[in-house]
Amino acid sequence: MSETIKKLAVLTSGGDSPGMNAAIRAVVRTCAFHSIECVGVYRGYEGLIEGDFEPLDARSVKGVINKGGTFLKSARSKTFRTKEGREKAYQNLKNENVDGLVVIGGDGSFTGALVFNSEFNFPVMGIPGTIDNDIFGTSHTLGFDTALNTVVDAIDKIRDTASSHNRLFFVEVMGRDVGHIALNAGIAGGAEEILIPEEDLGLERLVDSLNKSKTTGKTSSIVIVAEGDKIGKNIFELKDYVDQNMEGYDVRVSVLGHMQRGGAPSCFDRVLASRMGVKAVESILDGETNYMVGLNNGKIQLTPLEKAIKGKTKINLELLRVSDIMST
Ligand code: ATP
Repeated sequence: MSETIKKLAVLTSGGDSPGMNAAIRAVVRTCAFHSIECVGVYRGYEGLIEGDFEPLDARSVKGVINKGGTFLKSARSKTFRTKEGREKAYQNLKNENVDGLVVIGGDGSFTGALVFNSEFNFPVMGIPGTIDNDIFGTSHTLGFDTALNTVVDAIDKIRDTASSHNRLFFVEVMGRDVGHIALNAGIAGGAEEILIPEEDLGLERLVDSLNKSKTTGKTSSIVIVAEGDKIGKNIFELKDYVDQNMEGYDVRVSVLGHMQRGGAPSCFDRVLASRMGVKAVESILDGETNYMVGLNNGKIQLTPLEKAIKGKTKINLELLRVSDIMST
């Protein structure tokens, strides 16, 4: 272990996700375990630039593992995109005698961390925190599992009202660029169709499929639509199209929105956050920098930040097939 690292800083940046608090706790307690100091930075890179720091010890993070959001707050910082902003951030870290930085966030936050490292040779380590699961180098990002459970719970409730009234529901879930939430929650919630950014089902095929479901005896249907689905119509336009081209259904729309980001983290996310926090701190202490901690085949491993940022996650084709078969 490095003798030169005596104090680490931790921040959360970009969109919040359930499990961020558990990850902060793990970072803080791993520092305490190895007898090094830890400081929390409020509001992501904004707080780094403003010097909004607070020393954290093992007891400062009691009672947070089960809380959604992030007690350090998160932000998107325009100033950190400027050289002057990053210089201020560096000076603040130096004044506080901080030797390394753990960034919990998405690919934008990792890009900021890499730029910062390249300019000041400051050790950085990333922990992937976003509900979208769109980061290369980890099978699961923090918050994805919790968001899935939240969406499935919502679909179950919507199905109760859909089946009581012979309704067809379009349910919009998060995912502008990727359909991981839609595909997984759609299968788990028994959706008839799942529309994702990676695939263009086409409007005619959608209506054909819904008609087919009806002729086989279905009296209600749920279609899960990722925000960025390829058909290119927003969810209300989809409703109008189906209203005009299908008979016998009362068509409704439900947009789940930000509730998908909230709530107590699932057991899976709490354990994952704890494992990632330990690995992030111990990797910096081992002299590693510019990596992201990720889960691969059940193991916690490092991926270069550059790869994590540039790489694209792929939709699971087997899940697509399962979803097709399930809607028979
Ligand atoms: P989410 O996936 O929830 O959007 P994210 O981490 O990708 O999370 P962003 O808003 O893209 O969120 O990035 C967070 C912050 O990282 C930005 O507000 C900015 O301060 C910093 N950042 C992003 N890109 C750069 C860059 N090229 N140079 C410097 N800083 C950057």
